[in-house]
Amino acid sequence: MAQHEQSAASFPEHIRKKRNGEQLSAGEIRDFVQGVKDKTIQESQIGAMLMAIWLQGMVAEETLALTKEMMMSGEVMSWPAEWEGLVVDKHSTGGVGDKISLVLAPALAACGCKVPMISGRGLAHTGGTLDKLESIPGFNVYQSVQQLHGILEEVGCCIVGQTDNLVPADKVMYALRDVTSTVDSLPLITGSIISKKGAESLNALVLDVKFGNAALYKDLGSAKSLAQSMVTVGNSLGIRTGAVLSRMNCPIGRCVGNTLEVMESLECLKGRGPDDILELVTSLGGLLLWMVGRAGSLEEGKKVISTTLQNGAALEKFQNMMIGQGVTSQIAASLCSTNTDYYSILRRAHYQTELETQGHGTVLDIDGMVIAQVLHRLGAGRSKAGDPVNHSVGAELLVSLGQKVAKGQPWLRVHYETPALSAEQRLSLQGALTLGPADQLLTQPLVAEIILP
Ligand code: URA
Repeated sequence: MAQHEQSAASFPEHIRKKRNGEQLSAGEIRDFVQGVKDKTIQESQIGAMLMAIWLQGMVAEETLALTKEMMMSGEVMSWPAEWEGLVVDKHSTGGVGDKISLVLAPALAACGCKVPMISGRGLAHTGGTLDKLESIPGFNVYQSVQQLHGILEEVGCCIVGQTDNLVPADKVMYALRDVTSTVDSLPLITGSIISKKGAESLNALVLDVKFGNAALYKDLGSAKSLAQSMVTVGNSLGIRTGAVLSRMNCPIGRCVGNTLEVMESLECLKGRGPDDILELVTSLGGLLLWMVGRAGSLEEGKKVISTTLQNGAALEKFQNMMIGQGVTSQIAASLCSTNTDYYSILRRAHYQTELETQGHGTVLDIDGMVIAQVLHRLGAGRSKAGDPVNHSVGAELLVSLGQKVAKGQPWLRVHYETPALSAEQRLSLQGALTLGPADQLLTQPLVAEIILP
């Protein structure tokens, strides 16, 4: 019997073992991932194994073996020797208004790092970095490995989609997890995310693990378990890996929606961004700079990143990255000029409407999840992979947490087209704003904890 036939024959035994809560050996995990990749295991068997893993979990050694095997299922990138110690990336578990990558990648490139950022598309209420960038005319997120090398050589950062041959086992497993209710499993999420980062052959990785009512994990404890699992596996693979645990209740920044978020990112790169974006970008970037030895401490790293946003160095990198990824130099220069009219280049939605406060008081909360869900129904996001999105749909917050507001003051500007904003959606949005007495304002730091490698 050929090797793969032998493995396939023993596969029901592997499923039984995991189903009964026993630990799988590295060889059995290899059989599983190989079988997924080679299609020698039936989909029903993959689904059964995924459910057994979901129910029984995995110990650290199993999670590491799973991640390694997944990483090795496709191409593992290699970089020139002179980049050793400089290749870094960030992963976020996803949030509302999360445009950090657009600012962080060029800021890191301005500090001499190489950032081969492989990003994803939005699904359900979370936006995707690739969708945001595609609202820039000409921006091409699909680059061959050769082109990617060229952009990294010339500019230092690029933000691209996953190539076909990067962790092919994850593509199969992720699609099956989606339809077997096995997405929210710690070892499976760890394997899926870290295998892709491992295939980028990074020297350092920072994870932005979010918790709160607009995040996958609602409480700090469960977010921390995921962060710890990913940090452990990342470091075991030889990638210096750290994590930032950040609150995700209110939207990040003031804009939600693809085009609006690009505009807000450009404002950040011009040194005019809101404080929360600045805090996340400097914390994540500062940690990376410290991990690769380009800053003596986290605090020093934060200052270095902040300087690149103030002195135009990060903006210049973003401009060159756009050109490297297909945007004309005229459009790139115009978007990056100080007093540009963004709407002369980016498409504006046909309709804007402002919602007014229905009472007075201090802004105590803005529920990012509610805003994201309404925008999703207005066409800003997709319900299944491959659906189109309307880049122009979005919302701008006109007030911020802790601000005193009067009754009738505009607090949210919604950009929409077809479908139109319904009365029911207006009502939902009004429910996202909580006003109250100033002494009820709960001020908590955006970054709750940092996990070092
Ligand atoms: N993102 C991934 O790439 N994989 C997961 O499992 C979850 C989020």
